[in-house]
Amino acid sequence: MTETPAPQVAPWPDKPLAVLVIGAGFSGLAMAIRCRQSGIDDLLVVEKAGAVGGTWHENTYPGAACDIPAHLYALSFAPKSDWTRTYAGQPEIAAYLRELVERFDLTKHVALSTAVTGAVWDGARALWRVETDRGPLEARVLVSGMGALHHPAVPAIPGLHTFLGPLFHTSAWDHGVALQGKRVGVIGTGASAIQVVPAIAPEVGRLVLFQRTPPWVVPRNDRPTGPRMRALFRRLPVARRALRGVQFWLREAQAALGFTRVSGLTRLAEAASRRHLRQQVADPALRAKLAPPYRLGCKRVLISDDYYPALTRPNVTLEAGAIRNLTPDGVTMMDGSHHPLDVLVLATGFDVTASLARVPVVGRDGLILARAWGERVAAHRGVALAGFPNFFMLLGPNTGLGHNSVVLMIEAQVEYVLACLAEMRARKLAAIEPTPEAQARYLAELEARLSGSIWQQGGCASWYQDAAGRNIALWPGTVVAYRRSLREPDWSEFVLTPA
Ligand code: NAP
Repeated sequence: MTETPAPQVAPWPDKPLAVLVIGAGFSGLAMAIRCRQSGIDDLLVVEKAGAVGGTWHENTYPGAACDIPAHLYALSFAPKSDWTRTYAGQPEIAAYLRELVERFDLTKHVALSTAVTGAVWDGARALWRVETDRGPLEARVLVSGMGALHHPAVPAIPGLHTFLGPLFHTSAWDHGVALQGKRVGVIGTGASAIQVVPAIAPEVGRLVLFQRTPPWVVPRNDRPTGPRMRALFRRLPVARRALRGVQFWLREAQAALGFTRVSGLTRLAEAASRRHLRQQVADPALRAKLAPPYRLGCKRVLISDDYYPALTRPNVTLEAGAIRNLTPDGVTMMDGSHHPLDVLVLATGFDVTASLARVPVVGRDGLILARAWGERVAAHRGVALAGFPNFFMLLGPNTGLGHNSVVLMIEAQVEYVLACLAEMRARKLAAIEPTPEAQARYLAELEARLSGSIWQQGGCASWYQDAAGRNIALWPGTVVAYRRSLREPDWSEFVLTPA
């Protein structure tokens, strides 16, 4: 009888690691791969889920897909020739991320089902003491790849918990609940909702979509990538790179042409979106409900070819009034009307501030991250934090994008962290952290650029903003400009502590 080989798992470290990465999504895996390629093997990625993939492991709702073309949404150093569509679906992206583990021999560097519960900087020993639900760890350098869209935003609707039917958030889809023939309510009309609604509308009995603010929607033009094209990309990598280049520069041009401001480009895109609505929705009353009352680009612009058509189905109702409360059997509106429901889906997005500060991190002199962020969530160049030596964040504050692939931002940040690690080795440093002055200067420049941006001036509120209305999520420029700002770390911006 042949024995089944035991699954390979990361051995639990018994001495301080060179690098500990929190989270095995795009950020954490990119960091791990590039560390190994740079000769850093003393590395562990801890992931609370039972599989790698981060948001692409967790968001399994029907219709989940990426709204950035697949070739552009892949890591530059881990291309994939055989994406099956222009825009990949969640299963294909999750499989790509899982395959990276084998492709880059990461198995022994990833500890799954391991949640970090806290981290404290030990100044005397110049290392991070990290608590996990599997035991303590120590590391010279701590990298957060925890992501910003993680902590579900549960709306404060009165009576929410009195609803007796199944109720779940899009990021925790309950696949055990059969929707066939059921009366299903969906609250929210963001990027998640516009994918869920067309995916489930054909199977449910009735669907009521509760809209607070209509989104701007533009055409998606998604297509399958046939076997010939895939073979071409496999045989001729230059063709794949050329396509990725075109996809990248088309999006960069939008930012360069004023995507971040109310501009001529805004008016052009608004006209295209209104045309899309006119072409897909014949009923003027429904069209009126779907007309956004703010400028395009203020919230994330949504791309879809099947969202508007789904709303014209006879079994779908768009409810644009305000919700008063939930009852055990449905949703009651402010005007007193009632929608009886069997299942309720919260497509209500994420709490960015809570996501970023989820794990209690304590830096130098007992400085608590949540307190350091009392005034405003911020990081030096979006990556490092004054008061938190040897701590780096991937996709940290103000490094998300509205116009291009965030994978490009992650890669720029990973290289910046690697440059810091190389400098630490070369100069035999115990610790590195940005100076408060450099961080404040960076933040002041950022604020100046954000103040006139479309996210602040476009007449909307969005998840990009904190409770005080400041944009803490997006980078206000091109990817090229961000990459340039990270290319050569300026060591005068850092406190370098010798070993
Ligand atoms: P979201 O964009 O924040 O949308 C949340 C929706 O819920 C909004 O329509 C919001 O209305 C509504 N809402 C919140 N609280 C409500 C309440 N109390 N009553 C009624 N409506 C309420 O969240 P999301 O759709 O999950 O998307 C979040 C981000 O994830 C996206 O912007 C994107 O970056 C990413 N994402 C990407 C993809 C993709 O690549 N295709 C897919 C999904 C998610 P208001 O507009 O009035 O606030």
